[in-house]
Amino acid sequence: MTPGLAEVREMIERLVAFDTVSRNSNLELIDFVRHWLSRHGVASHLVVSDDGEKANLLATVGPSVPGGVVLSGHTDVVPVDGQRWTTDPFHVVERNGRLYGRGTCDMKSFLAIALALVPGMRHLKRPIHLALSYDEEVGCRGAPRLIDAMLARIPTPAAVIVGEPTGMRVVSAHKGIAVLRTVVTGHEAHSSQTHRGVSAVTTAARLITHLDDLARRRAADGPFAPGVEPPQTTIHVGTVHGGTAVNIIARECHFDWDIRAIAEDPPEPILQEFRRHCDERVVPELRRIAPGCGVTTELLVDAPPLAHEDANPALELACRLAGVDTAARVPFAAEAGLFQRSGLHSVICGPGSIDQAHQPDEFITLDQVRAGLDFQRRLVASLS
Ligand SMILES: [Zn+2]
Repeated sequence: MTPGLAEVREMIERLVAFDTVSRNSNLELIDFVRHWLSRHGVASHLVVSDDGEKANLLATVGPSVPGGVVLSGHTDVVPVDGQRWTTDPFHVVERNGRLYGRGTCDMKSFLAIALALVPGMRHLKRPIHLALSYDEEVGCRGAPRLIDAMLARIPTPAAVIVGEPTGMRVVSAHKGIAVLRTVVTGHEAHSSQTHRGVSAVTTAARLITHLDDLARRRAADGPFAPGVEPPQTTIHVGTVHGGTAVNIIARECHFDWDIRAIAEDPPEPILQEFRRHCDERVVPELRRIAPGCGVTTELLVDAPPLAHEDANPALELACRLAGVDTAARVPFAAEAGLFQRSGLHSVICGPGSIDQAHQPDEFITLDQVRAGLDFQRRLVASLS
């Protein structure tokens, strides 16, 4: 018997019931998946986080031969704190053809479909590899070690399909995200003695303006990636913290910023240019007043963009399975760029709309669940 919508729905309910908000452990969910797979004769390999609180899961269904397909998704979800939910976020509720719950859309339904189909994957000639990660929502932190383990353990797959919600459109390019923290160290003095101090707050303000200039130049002159909204690499400062009192020249200020880059305009040169600007133009000026002053910038998160490739076996496969002939590009960051950086052909294609992701009363329509199920059934058939 091939598993159908009823089995998928039950699996969605099971997965959503685990509160896997990124700050929590995901081990209960991973344990559940491991038992489910083992009941169907599939072994799992866990790749745990440094603190042992979280794990990625890697499992191969079918023969251990090259040319398989990786179905990849994250197990964590974004928080519900402060959001106005009308239902319990961790209990799936059906209303008007929609399943409501945290992660129904982003992205436990994709995982639930793959897991529910495992009992029907008895005749695979080429394998399906399941790759479940942790900490995607806080900067794709789990996936790099998952990918390393994958490359070391499994015969090279032909394609990676990352099941982020795209409404079953096939996505061949996404922006990356680099998150940075810049710390400015100034020199304290009484605020009446401005000639004796160096204000970290004022220096940070100048640096933020410099970044804003870089961002505006890109918005005006590109480079642009067609089909992405907005089409250029963006640079954005999200938080600033500095100073202790209005009458003290601030000794410390730090600000967090991100670069959401298209593949045509990657973050590395932007960061290099910014560091050079700090080292050559800003810091020498500060040190003329106080030698202890400085500016440092640390890279906190580095998830690369997914670059569109014309000859991409993953793209051809996903288009064939989804019955579409054009690929889309999206502005949000995902794990597909990390797979591509490791030399694997990747696309994003999954059920649900990104419009509902991260929202209160997050939902997926049953139509999208069906479409995702049909897609993965066709994948199983094509590998059998
Ligand atoms: Zn997601």
